[in-house]
Amino acid sequence: MKSSAFILAALLILLMTIPELGVGDRDYAADREFMVKTQIDWRTVTDGRIGVKDQQILEVMRRIPRHEFVPDKRKSQAYFDSPLPIGYDQTISQPYIVAYMTELLKLQKTHKVLEVGTGSGYQAAVLAELVNHVYTIEIIKELGEDATKRLKRLGYKNATVKIADGYFGWKEHAPYDAIIVTAAPDHIPPPLVQQLKPGGVMCTPVGGRFQIQNLTLISKTADGVIKTKQVMPVRFVPLTGKH
Ligand code: SAM
Repeated sequence: MKSSAFILAALLILLMTIPELGVGDRDYAADREFMVKTQIDWRTVTDGRIGVKDQQILEVMRRIPRHEFVPDKRKSQAYFDSPLPIGYDQTISQPYIVAYMTELLKLQKTHKVLEVGTGSGYQAAVLAELVNHVYTIEIIKELGEDATKRLKRLGYKNATVKIADGYFGWKEHAPYDAIIVTAAPDHIPPPLVQQLKPGGVMCTPVGGRFQIQNLTLISKTADGVIKTKQVMPVRFVPLTGKH
């Protein structure tokens, strides 16, 4: 009798420590804190990467439940320093890259932002915490629909998802203060540059499927002059579509 109670207790403890089984609700706050400290915050990262300085972005990264944006079986890896598969051969980007690209956009609360490549909706949620409205485009219907439901469930009323080829942007809501592309085109999409406000910035990886991709920052000056700067080598899934 005693030993069966012991086995039962051991089994229960085991179940509660496996988050994929959905037993025992962890809140992951400590995992997020550790993620920000070791992977993102410029004051504490130690492996030579350029850390993020913007306190608001660090705060948002500490707050958003990234584990809600990954498949159940990946929840225990949600705060790892890596991209993760989300199905359909796509990934949720590495947390550091999400935070770093967000900082490059120099966002303000009043901004309207376009994202190309909704994926899980995580980057859209990060942006939605920081700006007035986020428009985000996903080419894979199932991912777009799941992200729409997820963002709604998590209370993001200021993020709107459209299923389409994001290469062409989203003209109806243009111009945008900032544009972020989270899949790699082999050239900077001209329609996106057109939909950027004068004074706005756009951040996109650029590079062919088998080439080194460069994270590229494009700025449009107040009088419409386009300037580009390569920031760092990156690896993203390709921007697909028939453009
Ligand atoms: N931002 C996403 C997140 O937070 O989970 C991760 C983006 S994932 C690296 C790239 C996404 O871009 C994929 O979901 C992919 O289907 C999408 N994508 C690829 N080509 C696209 C296109 N032409 N238009 C819109 N989305 C596209």
